[in-house]
Amino acid sequence: MDRRSLISTAGTAGAGLVGILAAGAAPAVHAQAAVRWRLSSSFPKALDTIYGAAEVFAKHVKAMSGGKFEISTHAAGEITPAFGVVDAVQQGSIEMAHTAPYYFFGKNEVFALGCAIPFGLNSRQMSAWMYEGNGLKLMREFYAKYNIINFPGGNTGAQMGGWYRKEIKSVKDIKGMKMRIGGFAGKVLERMGGVPQNIPGGEIYTALEKGTIDAAEWVGPYDDQKLGFNKVAPFYYYPGWWEGGPELDFFINDKAFNALSAENKAIVEAAAAVAHVDMQAKYDARNPAALKELVGKGTKLRPFTNDVLALAFKESMALYEELNAKNADWKKIYADYSKFRADANLWFRFTEAKFDSFMQAQKL
Ligand code: CA
Repeated sequence: MDRRSLISTAGTAGAGLVGILAAGAAPAVHAQAAVRWRLSSSFPKALDTIYGAAEVFAKHVKAMSGGKFEISTHAAGEITPAFGVVDAVQQGSIEMAHTAPYYFFGKNEVFALGCAIPFGLNSRQMSAWMYEGNGLKLMREFYAKYNIINFPGGNTGAQMGGWYRKEIKSVKDIKGMKMRIGGFAGKVLERMGGVPQNIPGGEIYTALEKGTIDAAEWVGPYDDQKLGFNKVAPFYYYPGWWEGGPELDFFINDKAFNALSAENKAIVEAAAAVAHVDMQAKYDARNPAALKELVGKGTKLRPFTNDVLALAFKESMALYEELNAKNADWKKIYADYSKFRADANLWFRFTEAKFDSFMQAQKL
């Protein structure tokens, strides 16, 4: 659609766009009002992977708009606390945020479905559910209750299972263990006898160092090494069964988004997609070297035992059944999510899994 037809469409479709064009007071058809937004991240600047997605997004928005749409990015705590971003976007005190939706499962467990649930979708499957399945449509219907429109904004891929001061030899070692664990997964850890703690990324090291917590998980080798967890806990477990493919999201205040021109809306969508791909690429490219370095410095890699994984799976499925009974939003969206997960795993077992396991056994 060219700009002239856009203006005539806007004239019939609604006053919002016309108002914006008029407010720009520019006689030239190609002039566009300058837009300035603020984005609050839930992450510290030191994490170039996860915080970096907000910068990648803002950079592309600026470039694609020829500098007319600028978004300043702010680390957690600068203008909004890490866990205050949903309230801030909902109230419109900031235009947008970049966050891990599952941090907000306390508002409604459905937030976790837009990010990661234990034994959920992997990174590829999550993107497929969002973009090609019903994921984005269903999550947007839900987020609209919070005045939010979301765009996928990165994925870490399957995470590590975290850092432990002591070995976890069986499920007994989880009883009473205080662990920083990302969002919703704490509900399952609790059912396994653990004591979950929801602590922002920038504050985990101190808690683990002081012994306020016995274990902590963040993401994977590249970020975890930066945060220095290997210095305060020797055992590094895998896999992070609660985060097989956690998606980060850009949360945008719906009024702010709807006030954008059609061009700027398209720019936001495209820039978010760039940031989405970029984050996964950074993790996949940077984790291998970091893992080697950590092991070189004495980190002890340990797989979770089968009894731990089996109990975690059983408790996760029981939790989802309970939520089906008491949370109508969850029931509706989880039904679609779990069907997609079953089909995706049926397909991946014939292709990705077989190929990956063969390749990983070769001498390369
Ligand atoms: Ca994590």
